[in-house]
Amino acid sequence: MSPAVIALGSNLGDREANLRHALRAMDALDGVMVTAASGIVESHAVKPEGVDAAAPSYLNAVALVQSELPAERLLDELNRIEVESGRVREERWGDRTLDLDIVTFGVLSADTERLTLPHPRAWQRPFVIVPWLQADPDATILGRGRIDALEAATSSEVWAFDAAPLMEAVHS
Ligand code: ATP
Ligand code: CA
Ligand code: CA
Repeated sequence: MSPAVIALGSNLGDREANLRHALRAMDALDGVMVTAASGIVESHAVKPEGVDAAAPSYLNAVALVQSELPAERLLDELNRIEVESGRVREERWGDRTLDLDIVTFGVLSADTERLTLPHPRAWQRPFVIVPWLQADPDATILGRGRIDALEAATSSEVWAFDAAPLMEAVHS
């Protein structure tokens, strides 16, 4: 069993339902158990050119899981859940119904064509570190240190989104 941290995001369709469905689908995977989830935060979309307030805004959350699947297999399953949500891959950082990224996978470092661990951009993204701290106040990321210190260094580019606790999606 490895502890892993998964970042969830959605900016198309019923965004909250997409996150809830994804959490339930992850917990339903053979060999994967969701142990905690953050609240939901909202933020403006970021495109390669910068913040795009005209694009549909994102809902994001972070889930803590225990995985018996190796990291590459977990990524396969996350990709399948994305596709089932109706995700179509077009341009980089394009609008999507669902994005599931592996932020960390135990203490594993990886840098293959398919998988970089820890996720190389997670540490500088408020929409990851703010919910991550909610799910795990003691979180650290390999090479970057404590997440609470990273949060203190970011501006408040995310705001809370009022919703029922995401873990209800897993337990109901
Ligand atoms: P970003 O990675 O900046 O968040 P994105 O999530 O929009 O961008 P995607 O189009 O979803 O990017 O994924 C691009 C590729 O990233 C995927 O094909 C996947 O193989 C690869 N990838 C590498 N490392 C990871 C990781 N830690 N978690 C998820 N995907 C990863
Ligand atoms: Ca992403
Ligand atoms: Ca992704």
